Order: sequence, then C-alpha cells, then structure tokens
Amino acid sequence: MRFFNCLCVGLLVWISSAGPVFAQEARLMEALPNIYCMVDSTGDGANSTFITTKEGVIVIDTRGSEKEAAQVLKAIREATQQPVVYVVNSHFHKENISGNGVFKSARTIIAQQQTLAKIVTEAERENRKVTPPNLSFKKQLELKLGKYHLKLVHPGPAHTDGDLYIYIPKWRIMITGGMVFNHIIPFLGDSAIDSWIKALVEMEDLDAEVIVPGHGPVGGKPLVTQMKHYLMELKRFVNDALDDRKNLPETIEIVKVKLKTKYSDWEHFERVEENIVRAYVEYSAKRVR
Ligand SMILES: [Zn+2]
Repeated sequence: MRFFNCLCVGLLVWISSAGPVFAQEARLMEALPNIYCMVDSTGDGANSTFITTKEGVIVIDTRGSEKEAAQVLKAIREATQQPVVYVVNSHFHKENISGNGVFKSARTIIAQQQTLAKIVTEAERENRKVTPPNLSFKKQLELKLGKYHLKLVHPGPAHTDGDLYIYIPKWRIMITGGMVFNHIIPFLGDSAIDSWIKALVEMEDLDAEVIVPGHGPVGGKPLVTQMKHYLMELKRFVNDALDDRKNLPETIEIVKVKLKTKYSDWEHFERVEENIVRAYVEYSAKRVR
C-alpha cells in the first residue's frame, strides 16, 4: 500500500518546471524513476515512452513524424548519454512508428509479427518511406537491459491485429500501446471489440499499479478498467439495438445518446459514431453465423 501511495503522490507528475514542455503538442511525464512518457496533448497523436538504464535506453513508440521523434530524443539526451539500444513499436499506426528513422542507430527495432507485416505493406501501398522493425515475435518476448526486465506480450487481436503491451513485474508498471486511451474515445477502425475486451481482462489481472496508456496521461489501474467498460457498454448498447431490430441509423442515434451520459467529457466524442458503426458490423456479422 505504501508503494502505491508513493507512486500516486510522488511520481505521477508533469515535468513542467524541471524539464521540457513541447509547446501544446506533448508533455513529458515521469511515470516512475527512469521511465518517462512523452504524452501527446492533442488527442490525435500517440504517446512515446522511454526507459533509461545503465546499459542503454529503450524507446516504446516513436510518434507521428521524425520531427516529433526528435523531441523524444532531445528529452532522452537531457536524461542520459546512453545509446538507444532497443525500439519497440506497439502496433502499426503511423503515430506510433513514423519516428523510427530517428532511432536508426538502435541495435534492434521490435514489433509483433503481424505489426511488422502491416508496417511494410502499408508503407508500400502508400509509397511511404519507413524504418521497419528488424525483430518480430508471435506471442511473447522478454527483454533485459540494465536492471529492467520487460515482458512484451501479444494478447491477440485488440486495437489492431498485432498489438503488444509491456509489463515490468518488478516495477509494477504496464505500457499498454494502443489498447488503452485515457479519457479519449478510442479509434476502432482496425479493431476487434470482443477480443480487445478479452485483452483488457488479461491486463487487469496483472499486478501493475502504474499504467502508461497509448493516448492521454499516465495513471493507475482504473485506466485499464475504464477502457474495458467503454467497450463493454458500446457492445451492450449496440446488441440491445440489434435485439430490437434497429437499423444502422437508428442504432447510431440510440447508442450515441446512451454513451453521451457517461462519456461526453472524453476527448474526440465525435468518434463515437464510427465506433457504433464498427460495433454494429462486428455484432451483426456474429448473428448471421
Ligand atoms: Zn493506434
């Protein structure tokens, strides 16, 4: 309990007076000693996290452009002169991988294997330059650097087909990638809602007190639970409408009103409509089978 209080009161602080604040775009937050999160403030971009150790630095997600990644590198250099040894891409979305080139000198760039494939095919399709991962895994990978022992886990399809979360048991911290949005309506364009809920249940069961989400500020365990509740309510409301034989436009109207009572203060509330469409498609298809 003492450990948890310490985390909440002492360490989850914005580094505004002691460290850099990058205009309105991103702010650096110390999640735990030596574990920093560059939190995107726009609600559109993704967070980038870095861990400094005596043997080098691990970077998780590299933001939406090389310019944004350079801000991450600047923050790293203010904390340590150790080289960046590992880069991890939590999933294939552009706001997570577009700064990979800034960390080209890293020995290894890691992703889940479906994420690696998607990064390459999407870049080819859009004729876009990318620095792809050079190490991939299917289900789980363990990474050790200095005194940090990271477990990279692919819980199955969730926010995308190839998500991973990072769990550091010794420090009771989890870096969730795109599977957790903190008070932001999530993007569901590449998602599978049922298996995302299952992934969040798995993550809730871990002994992690500090949660570094993919979007929004660092927080505690309730961040995982509130993301799960949002998806469960979306699922339940859409299935209720399907039970009542509502068509898609009717479902959008009914479910939007229900979600508004609880989530109107979340950023990007306008995404709710496309979320309802996504859920309608997923659960209609399940009824046809
Ligand atoms: Zn994403």
